[in-house]
Amino acid sequence: MDIIKDKDLIKTHSYIDGQWREGDSKITVTNPATGEKVASVSDASVTDANYAVESAKKALKLWSSKSATERANLMRKWFDLMMAHQGDLAKILTLEQGKPLAEAKGEIAYGASYIEWFAEEGKRVYGDTIPALAGDKRIVVIKQPVGVVASITPWNFPNAMIARKAAAALAAGCTFVGRPASQTPLSALAMAELAERAGIPSGVFNIVVGDDAIGIGKVLTQHPDVAKFTFTGSTAVGKQLIAQCATTVKKVSMELGGNAPFIVFDDADIDAAVEGALVSKYRNAGQTCVCTNRIFVHRDVQETFTEKFVSAVQKLAMGNGMKDGVNVGPIISSKAVADVDALVKASISDGASLMLGGESGELGDTFYQPTILTNVTNDMPIARNEIFGPVSPIIPFDTEEEVIAMANATEYGLAAYFYARDIGRVWRIAESLDFGMVAINEGIISNAAAPFGGVKQSGSGREGSKYGLDDYMELKYLCMGGI
Ligand code: NAP
Repeated sequence: MDIIKDKDLIKTHSYIDGQWREGDSKITVTNPATGEKVASVSDASVTDANYAVESAKKALKLWSSKSATERANLMRKWFDLMMAHQGDLAKILTLEQGKPLAEAKGEIAYGASYIEWFAEEGKRVYGDTIPALAGDKRIVVIKQPVGVVASITPWNFPNAMIARKAAAALAAGCTFVGRPASQTPLSALAMAELAERAGIPSGVFNIVVGDDAIGIGKVLTQHPDVAKFTFTGSTAVGKQLIAQCATTVKKVSMELGGNAPFIVFDDADIDAAVEGALVSKYRNAGQTCVCTNRIFVHRDVQETFTEKFVSAVQKLAMGNGMKDGVNVGPIISSKAVADVDALVKASISDGASLMLGGESGELGDTFYQPTILTNVTNDMPIARNEIFGPVSPIIPFDTEEEVIAMANATEYGLAAYFYARDIGRVWRIAESLDFGMVAINEGIISNAAAPFGGVKQSGSGREGSKYGLDDYMELKYLCMGGI
């Protein structure tokens, strides 16, 4: 941690009610690139989680009664501080998560952009008036903050997954309790330090770092004072948490797993498609929910696309994310590498061909080489499962109908990508893909102005955009009589 200029950004206790709360036991944070210890962080308990919810409840009245402009001014300061400390925040992120430093800087700017965007959007929470059915009545609809928001987030975007939720919650007038993944608590705690410096009042933004995911998860999903629960993570865990939220009928939003198709039609700009596939697949070593998971290529352009794609992937440099020029960092753990490798091996034994990569290489068991498989079919394990690693399975197709049927043959519905130029085809395909987000001739899809979210078992609710605030607000209908 010597490389961090502002040492006060390195926080090792949970942040609850404006205090850094020390715990008896410790969680070790490890650098996935080197296996070295990065820090020891206090391990918060279920009691701490309950206290965080109570603190958020206590702070709700003060925060929700501020004007949208007052909240926006504080959030703007928080955004400015995040950008002023972008370099340090990115280094902390790379040390605990592994992604290349340039990508980590991009994540800080991306996370911060939600804080800036929602601070402004909070000023545009409009209500409604509706013509009443009787002359002596009036119908008015107002929007109010839902209350205390609790969240659980994963390790793959340790800053941005929290920022996307907290920004909308705070802008709406809600208070927030977040539990980051136990592998990557430092980025979340650094955000809390900057929230405090920005003057966000005690109890409004709380971060609980604890190894007891199940125990703390029960508090955040079942405490009667939590009005809304928001989760980003795997579909399997999301389903359990939805069931837990049912006991107190919470408002719920879920950003879950994906199995994104990436379709290259015969009229596509092949160079652009190669570029798009490269960024949408190998960013964060393939560990994003919107990562390309299956590449479908029209048989007439399969050879050209594959040749160009292999040549581009061969140029990617794998290594420690802190080193200049590295494009692909480590995978979060050796267990995750083993899971990726098992999918590759099972698909090869089912008939897929290994074109590139397919092993850890010399860097150690938390790395996996950028890999390409050809002769893949849509029923192989590599195509049916969310890979969460740097592996591209290439599947040929002949017709629009065939590729749409294959692309949609998954329980997931988060992101889809396709490259085509014919305008009629563009509309047909865009409307036929059963996914919440469709990128057309683009490899990068997410930004604060757009509604991010999935359909089917990829979740519910949207993060970002004018729609994103709705998840943190309740409609209240006022019926005024006797006029
Ligand atoms: P995960 O196992 O579901 O874990 C996500 C978070 O849930 C972590 O903080 C984890 O804590 C916690 N958790 C696990 N089991 C829990 C339980 N029983 N009760 C309460 N909390 C629990 O997911 P992951 O494998 O770390 O993350 C990758 C997944 O996230 C992928 O499926 C990916 O697609 C999805 N994701 C989705 C989006 C989106 O916006 N749709 C974005 C990013 C990632 P610990 O870390 O302490 O175990």
